[in-house]
Amino acid sequence: RAKAEGRGCYALFEPAMNRKILERRTIENDLRRALGNQEFVLHYQPQVRLQDDQLIGAEALLRWNHPERGLIMPADFIPLAEETGLIVPIGEWVLREACRTAASWPPNVKIAVNISPAQFALRHGLMALVPKILEETGLMPFRLEFEITEALLLRDLDRAFAALHELRALGIRISLDDFGTGYSSLSYLRAFPFDRIKIDRSFIAGLGARDDSNAIVKSVVDLGRNLNIPTIGEGIETIDQYKLLRAFGCQAGQGNFISHPQPAESVFGEFTLRKDERRVA
Ligand code: C2E
Ligand code: MG
Ligand code: MG
Ligand code: MG
Repeated sequence: RAKAEGRGCYALFEPAMNRKILERRTIENDLRRALGNQEFVLHYQPQVRLQDDQLIGAEALLRWNHPERGLIMPADFIPLAEETGLIVPIGEWVLREACRTAASWPPNVKIAVNISPAQFALRHGLMALVPKILEETGLMPFRLEFEITEALLLRDLDRAFAALHELRALGIRISLDDFGTGYSSLSYLRAFPFDRIKIDRSFIAGLGARDDSNAIVKSVVDLGRNLNIPTIGEGIETIDQYKLLRAFGCQAGQGNFISHPQPAESVFGEFTLRKDERRVA
């Protein structure tokens, strides 16, 4: 009924609704200030080669250290940052900060950065930004990996692929994040030569516990092998999930069992501490 009355109907002015709008506006204003106030921080989650437990990289994960609300996770502000376009300057900060940090790591350790679809819009000049940041930070292009999701490909497929090819030509890598959660991921695998497939953690969560999860994960690993695309499992929480992924022939893993995301100062501490636990595996 409220719908039939159109915009401006009474439903909009119900107190609960009103509070939501106000809260949203507050967060939006806070977001605008956050960059200038240096309230954003990156945590890094190690990625391991499963075959020999070697550290091969880390994913940069954004957190917002809000002066009143404390540490806010991406799910609670990235959607709003995307809607408002603020993800563009925030994403630029993320990229620069992640590259700067990774430049001080051993040269065989790569850095993965999540990129939102909005950052790909032509007018935002991602193609100009990437070489500039690589030069500024001295990071070799092959050490930088962009994680994109199907959301980018759903918009304008031709333009998205053109942009990805341009990035690829700079020498950086492109991985397909959250694989298996979208609509028609298989056709994308044929249309673009991704450097890596990240198997969504919802499938990893069921490993060892659900036959369907086992079958799906094993099939994706096999698919990757047949297409010559390495796979990585995200969200590994248990020793059993770690062992199963390795047994399936999955190349790499990431998750709290290996290490939680860590601030730059202590990035590989937990990873190293837990080495023995993984050796038993
Ligand atoms: P994602 O790229 O799929 O990142 C993996 C998420 O899984 C991270 O959540 C990570 O903390 C979480 N995770 C890792 N291991 C485990 C585990 O063992 N168990 C469980 N339950 N979770 C695990 P986080 O940090 O909350 O980030 C959520 C999403 O926000 C990311 O998903 C990504 O889509 C987005 N995001 C994070 N940082 C950025 C960024 O800098 N830019 C953009 N555009 N998006 C970002
Ligand atoms: Mg990711
Ligand atoms: Mg993911
Ligand atoms: Mg995810």
